[in-house]
Amino acid sequence: MSVLRSVAALRSYVAAARAGGRLVGLVPTMGALHAGHLALLDAARAECDVVVASIFVNPTQFDRADDLERYPRDEARDIERLAGAGCDALFAPAREEMYPPGFATTVHVGEVTGRFEGAVRGAEHFNGVATVVTKLLCACLPDVAYFGRKDAQQLHVIRRLVSDLNIPVRVASVATVRDSDGLALSSRNELLTDAERLRARAMPDGLAAAAAALRSGERDAAAIAAAARAAMTARGADVEYVAVVDPGTFTPVEHADGDVLVAVAARVGAVRLIDNETFAPAAADATRTTDTSEVATAA
Ligand code: AMP
Repeated sequence: MSVLRSVAALRSYVAAARAGGRLVGLVPTMGALHAGHLALLDAARAECDVVVASIFVNPTQFDRADDLERYPRDEARDIERLAGAGCDALFAPAREEMYPPGFATTVHVGEVTGRFEGAVRGAEHFNGVATVVTKLLCACLPDVAYFGRKDAQQLHVIRRLVSDLNIPVRVASVATVRDSDGLALSSRNELLTDAERLRARAMPDGLAAAAAALRSGERDAAAIAAAARAAMTARGADVEYVAVVDPGTFTPVEHADGDVLVAVAARVGAVRLIDNETFAPAAADATRTTDTSEVATAA
């Protein structure tokens, strides 16, 4: 596996692959790789001839300095995992490569970025995400870029910017990979103590409570959110928000008449966790939509 540190090296690597007529897939990450990231890599390998992963802990999307500092980093282990998973090249730039002195441009996606994650983490969060993803896409120019549905609002923001800026890349999404206890894999899970790990079950519990409410015929979004919130609080999580939104637009709905996406965010100790599921209330038993059938479980 080639390890590329500069945009110039990435450009010539990808240009050579594309000149040979090969399809290039990009998997952007912040490292501390787990089976969720590897599911993105597998999806890329299944569709593309050449797979490039990137690791960059993007400072501009962190709203808290302590969160950035504590974010887990282990490049040597990540390189081993990527090579073992059949990744062809890793782009792992230093901070100065991405943000050289004088850097002064921000990509701001309007509307959806003000809600939920944007409201809790501040406007800078999605500005940071949008800017770094735009830079990664422009630096690599892959045919397809892969993102997880675990970060549903982020995925929505990325689809928006790719469409609005006419970036010639297909955005592909991959189902959330969960542990056997239902907790979505996240690099931040490493920071949980054993006791906190139990409390973190608040996340799948909240989504299960929303599913149960829908199954029982509840269509009022506030009541569905209240059921999820109660289940999460009962597990000992500090709930930040429960959002019931239209999966296509990420705008809140009052009634869950069509498909709805339920997104939850909570703090467990010092660790912030997010998760979501998409439900089809119109289906007879209001079971989860495609998301669940495609959900992989970590080994
Ligand atoms: P991160 O390294 O946390 O920035 O995540 C990099 C990519 O992996 C993003 O597109 C995430 O949505 C995706 N991802 C993170 N956790 C999971 C998971 N448990 N299942 C599937 N994709 C994930």
